[in-house]
Amino acid sequence: MSDSTADILLHTTIDRHVHTKLCHHANGEMEDYVLAAIRQGLEGLIFLEHMEEGINGNEKTWLTEEDFDSYFFEGKRLQEKYRDRLSIGLGVECGYNPDSRQTLISRLGRRDWDEIGISCHFLKSARGHINLFSRKEHNLKKAKESGPEHLLNTYFDTLLEAVATLPGTKLCHLDGALRFLPEIYLTDMHMEKIDQLLLAVKKRGLTLEINTSGLVIRGEQFPNRAILQMAISHRIPLVVGSDAHNPEQVGQHFDQIKELVEGL
Ligand SMILES: [Zn+2]
Ligand SMILES: [Zn+2]
Repeated sequence: MSDSTADILLHTTIDRHVHTKLCHHANGEMEDYVLAAIRQGLEGLIFLEHMEEGINGNEKTWLTEEDFDSYFFEGKRLQEKYRDRLSIGLGVECGYNPDSRQTLISRLGRRDWDEIGISCHFLKSARGHINLFSRKEHNLKKAKESGPEHLLNTYFDTLLEAVATLPGTKLCHLDGALRFLPEIYLTDMHMEKIDQLLLAVKKRGLTLEINTSGLVIRGEQFPNRAILQMAISHRIPLVVGSDAHNPEQVGQHFDQIKELVEGL
């Protein structure tokens, strides 16, 4: 471990990014994820369910306010039931939409979240919003037609605005957008934008998420090694999350991440 990483405490005993079937594209009840975390020997998990606002022309992959009511009700029951076994956090993965900023801020302000992850899954285009994180053919087609390089420029600019304006606690899967397009790569301009974004993360006191779903999708965690090195040089705290959409994905590949960060 180099000097710069010596003070980076990476807690791989808590999975800080887990979904449930409430978001309509994951399997399993909240309790299934809790039991999976216990089986994995984790000390804690944080549910981080999807909040989106003002997204048109897409199937609903997020929770309504009523869904969040049920989420908190069940989450608090589980916190009580399993309090001797592990800690359970109730968080939100807020997908930023510049056109709905005020609504998002007021929705976030209505509840007591244990974690507010910032992400951006959808970008506006002439033909409705494009889901940058979908592997479905119709989304990939729209992304190719809009120009992946340009979309990524807009994606990083949008994240920068989100970090500067939302009351977040961490930035999620930073370079995960468009990873289902095999020809995608980061240009020098993208890397400059990422550096600005990391500076904003640092300034706002956020953490940066290492998301292990990248290991399955592209053979490397989100964000990649070069970006993690930049984050470490800015002394940004790192946290780990599996982004589990299935209970068996809870805590996956955390050992590998611990080793990776120790070697950076
Ligand atoms: Zn999801
Ligand atoms: Zn997620």
